Amino acid sequence: MTVDTARFATRAVHAARSRETAAARATPIYLTAGFEFDDFDHAADHFSTGTGFGYTRTGNPTVRAVERQLASLESGADAVLVASGQAAVSTALLSVVGAGDHIVSSTHIYEGTRGLFLDNLARLDIETTFVEDIADPDAWRAAIRPNTRALFAESLANARNDVLDVAAVSAIADEVAVPLIVDNTLATPSLLRPIEHGAAVVVHSASKFLAGHGSVLGGAIVDDGRFDAERAGHNAPHLVLPGRGGAPSVFSRHGGRARIAYARESVAPRFGASPSPLNAFLIGQGAETLSLRVERQSRNALEIARWLESQDAVESVDYAGLPSHPHHETAVRYLEGGFGSIFTFTLRGGLPAARRFVEDVRVFTHMTHIGDVRSLVLHPGTTSHAQRTDAERAVLGVGPGTLRLSIGIEDVADLIADLSRVLESVRETVA
Ligand SMILES: *Cc1c(COP(=O)(O)O)cnc(C)c1O
Repeated sequence: MTVDTARFATRAVHAARSRETAAARATPIYLTAGFEFDDFDHAADHFSTGTGFGYTRTGNPTVRAVERQLASLESGADAVLVASGQAAVSTALLSVVGAGDHIVSSTHIYEGTRGLFLDNLARLDIETTFVEDIADPDAWRAAIRPNTRALFAESLANARNDVLDVAAVSAIADEVAVPLIVDNTLATPSLLRPIEHGAAVVVHSASKFLAGHGSVLGGAIVDDGRFDAERAGHNAPHLVLPGRGGAPSVFSRHGGRARIAYARESVAPRFGASPSPLNAFLIGQGAETLSLRVERQSRNALEIARWLESQDAVESVDYAGLPSHPHHETAVRYLEGGFGSIFTFTLRGGLPAARRFVEDVRVFTHMTHIGDVRSLVLHPGTTSHAQRTDAERAVLGVGPGTLRLSIGIEDVADLIADLSRVLESVRETVA
């Protein structure tokens, strides 16, 4: 029986079945849960070696194409795409640490990641020590314990715009043969590629700049592919010892790429935060224009930061692109072609001024997102950083009058006109 002679309900399901291949120039969207095997041996082979495609949670050609693209942009050996930035952070960490292990992390990190360390990983008996002054190598060294298995930091942080000396902290991680994992979401590989400066692993919220359009969530883990079993094997028994039932170790099968292979084989598909192939496509599509967007956004942001710094209603501007920023020199050393487009500034009028500001913007959008083509504003003190104490917020540079901006690709004159009008009304409110 062929499909043509089958009955209606059967034809509805099978008539479109196709194994046609065509050289699509844009990345084709393989929106399918699974893939048909060529024959009996192909299925067995796929299950034993993991080659080819069987089921989208363990691999999909659209997802794979975007993984290659992001690995290339970050100068890494390979990448794993997952469903969100948080999934990228948790997958990267769970590929490295286990119960009884310890992490040293910068204090200046995304609040969701901080919660992951303090609430979730702590429940798995994985403890984290936070480093406040990330520019002080001795502070990192002092926090390291015999059971430390990872160092974690953001290359460019929110809210104070701290810039990580990636080479210095990578060297410290290297001394104890553990990976430095860098969240590069705010800097993007367009401005900074941490692996080129010695970081072992890079993670991203692809929901932000990589996609850029603010339409999807996604995350990526990029690995340098330089896992050294001789130097670091004692810190990574799950990579160098035989697997369940005496199976060959991950290292014996994947060599230097053992860490990312473990993330792909054992962590991402088991914890299950798989990306939709449609979202993968949209992230890949966005990443094609990353450099143009980031260039424009950084230029707009610098102009706006300078303008804000000259306004009397503004108490301070925390932008690494300004010479007044304490990490400006590090930013100049590491960031190529711009300083990013996310920063905070603080209004003299405190909370009432901040409230007026977010309620009055028109070109800016009031929402909790960053790295969008649209310009966005958020009041961290009552939103992202509301769970912190006043003292902690002060350390992080978040006061009652502090606002976070994520500058988009609009015409900068329209953005400044919007801000100028809002500052005028803020002055009236608090006067
Ligand atoms: C947004 C963000 C995350 C989390 O990413 P999601 O895609 O929202 O899960 C992690 N780190 C940083 C720096 C972020 O900005």
